[in-house]
Amino acid sequence: MRTTVAAGRELPVGKIVCVGRNYAEHAREMGVAPPDRSSTGCPSEPVLFLKPSTALLVEPTHIYLPSFSTEVHHEVELVVRVGRLLCRATPQEAAAAVDAVALGLDLTARDLQAQAKKAGLPWAVAKGFDGAAPLSALVPVDGADALASASFTLEVNGVMRQAGACAEMLWPLPQLIAHISARFTLEPGDLVFSGTPAGVAALRAGDQVRGTLNGAVLLVATVHQRE
Ligand code: ZN
Repeated sequence: MRTTVAAGRELPVGKIVCVGRNYAEHAREMGVAPPDRSSTGCPSEPVLFLKPSTALLVEPTHIYLPSFSTEVHHEVELVVRVGRLLCRATPQEAAAAVDAVALGLDLTARDLQAQAKKAGLPWAVAKGFDGAAPLSALVPVDGADALASASFTLEVNGVMRQAGACAEMLWPLPQLIAHISARFTLEPGDLVFSGTPAGVAALRAGDQVRGTLNGAVLLVATVHQRE
């Protein structure tokens, strides 16, 4: 059983819910139009998918690329931990239920994902393999303000690859978490990966990744290739 700790509170990770295409520029770089929420006034639904809790690597200093992919991309994301049960919550209830944030990597076997997309098959292996969810230490948060102002970056080998901020999300966190809770009941300890900004690219053995959240360095790890 994977667990996470924030402010001395250790919680089991029952599931990891992820959202696709929550930043317009990333949707464009993947060759799809960003979801249009303006024309009808009725937002289309965010793209949701799950990673198993076995994908989680908590506070890793080493990241492992699986043997069955030759193109594993980094997707740096703001992650929130849900501290209490949420089912069909309001955005206000959803924001109040978040007890910590972290920096996560939604590692994606892009070659497998592309094959799956082409064949109309699910992304489970491309997104859910062992170690596909490296996660930094959690930072306790109190209240919705922290969910509106967070920003984060990812450098690879000292070069800035991705930078994102809550202000750029197509679905702001309170609405996103509320929506998720109407599809999957969220239990204490569940994690939400809130989507990646533009700049995704392949990782290679020997790469050094360095991630920051609100200016603090939270994730420093070396990339390895599994045989
Ligand atoms: Zn992602």
